[in-house]
Amino acid sequence: MSNPVRVRFAPSPTGFLHVGSGHSALANWLVARQMGGEFLLRIEDTDVERNRPELVDNVLEMLHWLGLDWDGTPVHQSERGDLYAAAAEKLVAAGSVYFCDCTGDVVQARNKEAGGKPGYDGFCRDRNLEPGPGRAARFRTPHEGRTGWDDLVRGEVSFANADLEDFVVLRGNGAPMFLLANAFDDADMGITHVIRGEDHVNSTPKYLLLVDALGMARPEAFAHMPLLVNEGRKKLSKRRDDVSMSDYRDRGYLPEAMVNYLALLGWGPADGVEVRPISEIIDLYRLADVNASPAFFDQKKLSFVNAETIRGLSSEEFQRRAEPFLTYGAPAVAALASLATEVQERVRTLTEVEPMIEFLVVDEPEMDEASWTKAITKGKAVAEMLDATIARLDALAPGDWAPEHIQAAVSQAAIDAGHVNEEGGPQLSKAQGPVRVAISGRTVGPPLWESITVLGRDRTLARLRGTRASVG
Ligand code: GLU
Repeated sequence: MSNPVRVRFAPSPTGFLHVGSGHSALANWLVARQMGGEFLLRIEDTDVERNRPELVDNVLEMLHWLGLDWDGTPVHQSERGDLYAAAAEKLVAAGSVYFCDCTGDVVQARNKEAGGKPGYDGFCRDRNLEPGPGRAARFRTPHEGRTGWDDLVRGEVSFANADLEDFVVLRGNGAPMFLLANAFDDADMGITHVIRGEDHVNSTPKYLLLVDALGMARPEAFAHMPLLVNEGRKKLSKRRDDVSMSDYRDRGYLPEAMVNYLALLGWGPADGVEVRPISEIIDLYRLADVNASPAFFDQKKLSFVNAETIRGLSSEEFQRRAEPFLTYGAPAVAALASLATEVQERVRTLTEVEPMIEFLVVDEPEMDEASWTKAITKGKAVAEMLDATIARLDALAPGDWAPEHIQAAVSQAAIDAGHVNEEGGPQLSKAQGPVRVAISGRTVGPPLWESITVLGRDRTLARLRGTRASVG
């Protein structure tokens, strides 16, 4: 029987949790939960210059937000220096590494003179230097043979050993390099499946040589997840693209929608049903079905998945999720309750909720300039339509202040104002615009009849009259 599955997510805290790392974290988590295995966390914080320890909190908070619960306590590489030193000792004793005093500049100058390829040229390989300050330990890579693995996503991958440079394992100051800590820890923690981003493919042969030299067991499997790219097919970048997971949370994306969308990057269920509960994704997900080619992180599709997920919530749950995004507090909560279904059907993100109900909360809705231009400045028979609407609504009996009567009244007003179609019926698409802008300040929003019903007679008529006065 093979070992129980143990996977790990191993972020380096050099930035906020990135959607690309979230993608790798999710693949690990899905495999662990599907196989009844363990999902471990390891904070790879050995690079003291680039690490910002405070960012670990962001990483953990975002994993928690996404619902990617981990097993046990996160391991911090910064607390395992002794283990790496002992591993390095072992490599020294076995003759797997040698010491080197070449500075980067010296290596570069030699390469330039020789017109050779970049990278380390093996200058110190046979110099038998003793360890000492400023002397790095380099791995003695074989010159023959190949090192490879069967990647669950990419199939057979292998590198000619002759193409691998003698890479640094310990810096001149004795600090372990990323690869040593990374490969040692996977073996030491009993990781069975190394699932990570494709940017690590090129260093995997070195990782394998290291594990072999340490006399430790190789992981059973590797899976290198596809690179995430933007619409220009360029690798997502912190500077150019929206990549920070917390920004998506703050912009009103639901964690389950984000997780659902991330699962679809490079993978899709056989039945083609893309928006579905995480429990089903756990059952269906297969690393072997993940496509190795770069996956487009498509904001539009994410927003579609988010909208679908929002529509799938119960009304109570939708209101509960929207609440933190309602800056007006209790009055907005009440306003949302009065139009919850209508709003839930129309928003793509939770940040779109408040603008849709703001007209119910404020005394005077803020006029959206583009809406005003479109519906009022450029509209036809605007004054006539507003006058007719005021008259027709004013004439409604108090008991008739309900969507169907309001619709009938505004339809009549449209006919009064000359907004008629070929059959002589009301042409509401044109007629509605000024009315909607008058009551809400915007051309888009929840359905008009319900909106007017909830806004009430006094406020509706006051706003229609105010707008009528501005039209002149
Ligand atoms: N710490 C590495 C990174 O953040 C991940 C290494 C790995 O998953 O093996 O890119």
